[in-house]
Amino acid sequence: MPHVITQSCCSDGSCVYACPVNCIHPTPDEPGFATAEMLYIDPVACVDCGACVSACPVGAIAPETGLAPDQLPFVELNAAFYPKRDGKLPPTSKLAPVLEAPEVRRRPGGPLTVAIVGSGPAAMYAADELLTQQGVRVNVFEKLPTPYGLVRAGVAPDHQHTKRVTKLFESISGLPGFTLYLNVEVGADLTHDELLAHHHAVLYAVGAPDDRRLDIDGIGRPGTATATEVVAWYNGHPEFAHLPVDLSGDRVVIIGNGNVALDVARILTAEPDVLARTDIADHALAVLRDSRVREVVIAARRGPAASSFTLPELIGLTSTCEVVLDPADHERVLTDLAAATDPLTRSKLEIMSKLGDATAPVTRPRIRLAYRLTPRRVLGEERATGVQFDVTGTGETCELTAGLVLTSIGYRGKPIRGLPFDEAAAVVPNAGGRVVDPETGEPVRGSYVAGWIKRGPTGFIGTNKSCAAETVHHLAADYNAGLLADPSHKASALDRFVRGRQPAVIDACGWRAIDAAEVARGAGLRPRDKFTTVAEMENVAAAAAAPPMSKRLLEALRR
Ligand code: NAP
Repeated sequence: MPHVITQSCCSDGSCVYACPVNCIHPTPDEPGFATAEMLYIDPVACVDCGACVSACPVGAIAPETGLAPDQLPFVELNAAFYPKRDGKLPPTSKLAPVLEAPEVRRRPGGPLTVAIVGSGPAAMYAADELLTQQGVRVNVFEKLPTPYGLVRAGVAPDHQHTKRVTKLFESISGLPGFTLYLNVEVGADLTHDELLAHHHAVLYAVGAPDDRRLDIDGIGRPGTATATEVVAWYNGHPEFAHLPVDLSGDRVVIIGNGNVALDVARILTAEPDVLARTDIADHALAVLRDSRVREVVIAARRGPAASSFTLPELIGLTSTCEVVLDPADHERVLTDLAAATDPLTRSKLEIMSKLGDATAPVTRPRIRLAYRLTPRRVLGEERATGVQFDVTGTGETCELTAGLVLTSIGYRGKPIRGLPFDEAAAVVPNAGGRVVDPETGEPVRGSYVAGWIKRGPTGFIGTNKSCAAETVHHLAADYNAGLLADPSHKASALDRFVRGRQPAVIDACGWRAIDAAEVARGAGLRPRDKFTTVAEMENVAAAAAAPPMSKRLLEALRR
């Protein structure tokens, strides 16, 4: 019975390298990998060994017989990636390609020492790649008191499968040579030059923390926000705990229809009792329990065939939520379906063609996919009351009332102090991860990037594995070629230096205490109950770091 890859595929390609018969594609070295929505198992070539199941960091692979009913569409989806061969083995079957680890040749000035800024997937995959070499040291600096970036603060709380990748990251953090400095902001507590004085290289994996802003009248008015702010709010990011999310109206409009829009729409229409079993932030759950929202409209400026959400996410959405279309959009879906040739687009449109009718009475909070709506302005004076759209390409306008208007038009990278920045692409200019000065075209010594700040905000968690590997290969080559200056301070000086700048630095022990306390607060009813203030987390970490009290002092305190 062949194995099947399902919705939470993170595309990190670990399964590809584990597979002994090369039946998982596209592989990271094949064309199409960078843009693939997921990876697919060839049901004809699969030998059912289960090696991919153990390798997958997010538990996305199961034998066909072990699938839940809502995962069954993935059987066909995996098979459809491969040409029909009447059961014959594909002629291309061979052993899986091996990704060579970068070879670091030791130099007299001490082992290669790298600072990684950020602790999300790109940072952790880069650390993993560097630590394949004995003796290499990696110091990871993270602004928040908690690690793993968007896995904690971005992945939706109802996608706990995807969050399983943190197990992989925990094992990377446990590798010899790995040190964690949480609650330390590079650019505020420490500068780029100071980091470089303590390391051979600094690798930025800081993601794209800002949103792309929609430049229409009324954006920024009360009752408007960005979808990514709402994501940070429901995931308990300390900087967004007090975001005013007003769900007292009966409709929310989300502008843009990428996967982030789908995540937000799903959470805003989910049954609160179901969310209560996830790690959603308590403040968000309380607001969702009082929500009066009956409909979330996801408004796209183009037609159904150009939808930005991926097929796996659409399958997941339609199997768990009520999703509807207006009759006019239903017609658009059928027209696009008749013209579509690309199999992925056809599959999306086929699913959409079977969606319910938006003119039916609303029985439970639902999601409406709406098309050809180009936002013109936010309605309302004091606060948003809706959106006026141009009906794309017609010269007509239409209005949708809404109590909350969210834009979901993508993330945006922000400049890093001390490094060049490409304002148009919102990335740090680079060649394969080596930061490059756009004026001279020369590499900026000791400076590297990986993840969204390198390539822009696209792809999935695992896309960062090959992205980070490319950067690390270049970094190792530069070190081997003697292009990286030795640090001017001893390795042992770093800890004192960081603590001097940020006394509330949290180390791996502090993070383990925060993690354990959150899990304990979940009381077995939910994966964890997150802390949402920096002060709470600092206190838990400090208590874990404090030397144990003497018995006599403890007894004196008890009395
Ligand atoms: P996205 O996929 O780039 O979607 C952006 C959306 O904004 C598109 O629908 C785009 O429409 C629209 N848009 C852009 N400018 C606009 C404008 N001026 N007016 C109206 N609409 C506009 O971005 P995202 O949803 O933020 O996702 C970012 C990345 O994270 C993606 O790679 C996504 O797959 C990934 N992600 C994955 C998951 C998951 O796998 N579960 C979850 C979340 C995010 P046009 O197409 O017309 O430009």
